[in-house]
Amino acid sequence: MTLMYWQRDLETMPRDPLRALQLQRLQDTVARVEACVPFYQSQFASTRFTAAELRTLEDVRRLPFTTNADLRNHYPYGLVAVPPNRLSRLHTSSGTTGKPKAIFFSQRDVDQAAELVARCLIMVGATADDVLQNMMTYGLFTGALVVHYGAEKVGLLVIPAGPGNSERQLLLMRDFGTTLFHCTPSYALYLADFMERHGVDPRRDLKLRKALIGAEAHSEATRAKIEASLGIQAYNSYGLSEMNGPGVAFECEHQQGMHLWEDHYLLEIINPDTGDPVPDGDPGELVLTTLCREAMPLLRYRTRDITAIIPEPCPCGRTHRRLRRITGRSDDMLIVRGVNIYPQQIERILMAVPELGRNYLIELDGLDEMTIKVELSPAHFDGHVEHLVQLESRLVDKIRAEILTKPKLQLVAPGSLPISEGKAKRVIDRRVL
Ligand code: AMP
Ligand code: ZN
Repeated sequence: MTLMYWQRDLETMPRDPLRALQLQRLQDTVARVEACVPFYQSQFASTRFTAAELRTLEDVRRLPFTTNADLRNHYPYGLVAVPPNRLSRLHTSSGTTGKPKAIFFSQRDVDQAAELVARCLIMVGATADDVLQNMMTYGLFTGALVVHYGAEKVGLLVIPAGPGNSERQLLLMRDFGTTLFHCTPSYALYLADFMERHGVDPRRDLKLRKALIGAEAHSEATRAKIEASLGIQAYNSYGLSEMNGPGVAFECEHQQGMHLWEDHYLLEIINPDTGDPVPDGDPGELVLTTLCREAMPLLRYRTRDITAIIPEPCPCGRTHRRLRRITGRSDDMLIVRGVNIYPQQIERILMAVPELGRNYLIELDGLDEMTIKVELSPAHFDGHVEHLVQLESRLVDKIRAEILTKPKLQLVAPGSLPISEGKAKRVIDRRVL
């Protein structure tokens, strides 16, 4: 039998009781950090705030933000709110440079993270009959383990495949009848390409039906390409280590935005420059406060991810508000010849072109010289030169219209650009600053 919800009462709770639950949990969280986290104690002291003053959800704005830098500066144990013997798991967040951010879980946190993933899996129609091939990186990264635990809770058979080694992935898919898989969108694209190059027709040879794709920003065009080439439905999965990893926000079967589990996370969207709230529906930076986390509660964590709230109710009946697809991180933004550009703007154009394959790389050199290398699709690799020249100039025009800068474009052979095991590296910036 297919379940509609994993925790119906919580997932469909009317907004007023949901907000009351949030307030109660927020008050508990703030009182706990005030009592036992020196970092927050000193933050509260400097703004003369006390937990007792928090009376409404709007009062959250009186709390300090917590940033990436705070986590690094108080590494490793500075934000922990439980005695060391209550810690049961350590994860770290993929940072670009320097020390990682240490994220601790208590046993209850491990269990709650798994519950949220279970909600997500049920939400997209997974059942105990499904076989989930988990192609995320196992280890310090939250992506694989947290989904693994959630899937076991629902009773799926989980194959802890990890990323890479596409030949072995295919063998596992064939031999164990994989029906769902979990990976980054870039790896899903790579796998589709690999199958095409090796004569595997997923509709004929495999039992795949759905994919959970996350950990990286990607466009609707990328999703469409993954779905069309593998004959599946792909659901956007959003999370970050600082908030337990996957299971923070996830698409339902309608695939129109990701429900953010508001009984566990308090959601704000702010103007990243001023810190002020933006009106519902406007884009801004996502700021999250943990409402249930035991080992390491975080107040108003600046995710740097740019999104917007979808205020309208969802036909699936869940009352937790949806977020739009993340359009990028505020720190992913490139400034090229004075224009702000998100790599996703380019990706969206590339992925909608059938002649192109699934991997691309943006290189920046010298004084704002942009080169975009993009693989051709295996079916078009042997195309006529004339046709390729036309394709190239069509693409340059489209991209220039979008980003107001004329890139150089190089069409390259399928499978020739590097792929990374974790998150894809789409931009190489060698500019002299
Ligand atoms: P990590 O903490 O290493 O898991 O990285 C978390 C970051 O990955 C988030 O802050 C986002 O920038 C990015 N991310 C995760 N899931 C998604 C998604 N579905 N769409 C866009 N970006 C994502
Ligand atoms: Zn929904």
